[in-house]
Amino acid sequence: MSRPHISAALREKIADEARHRCGYCLTPQSFTAMPMHVEHIIPIAAGGTSDESNLWLACPLCNGHKGVQTHGVDPVTGERTPLFNPRRQKWQEHFRWSEDGVEIIGVTATGRVTVICLQLNNEHLVRARRRWVAVGWHPPKG
Ligand SMILES: [Zn+2]
Repeated sequence: MSRPHISAALREKIADEARHRCGYCLTPQSFTAMPMHVEHIIPIAAGGTSDESNLWLACPLCNGHKGVQTHGVDPVTGERTPLFNPRRQKWQEHFRWSEDGVEIIGVTATGRVTVICLQLNNEHLVRARRRWVAVGWHPPKG
């Protein structure tokens, strides 16, 4: 399946709407040396389109872990649950930061499966967040 071109103007618009940070782990573009990806919320392989409504900003780690996944199994309910949609859902309603600000905790089924499937507390992010907390950059206020 061919992947339609996403124009530079559309990339810029999406980055602005996403406040230049990953829709999943909230890592700001300015904290990393890696350009953010414009990701397909529903992957092309799962029938998603390249319409603006299906695009958001994600860091390379979250996008890589997400791959073609759309759902996960919630460890609490045992139910197959859709992943967080950063365009349609509010981060604060599905996740919170741990007391030390280093880990993301899922507070809903969607939050829990997204933490697991996207490995939102992978060692690379946790190590970086510890440094960000130490210098007062993290966790984000809003
Ligand atoms: Zn991320």
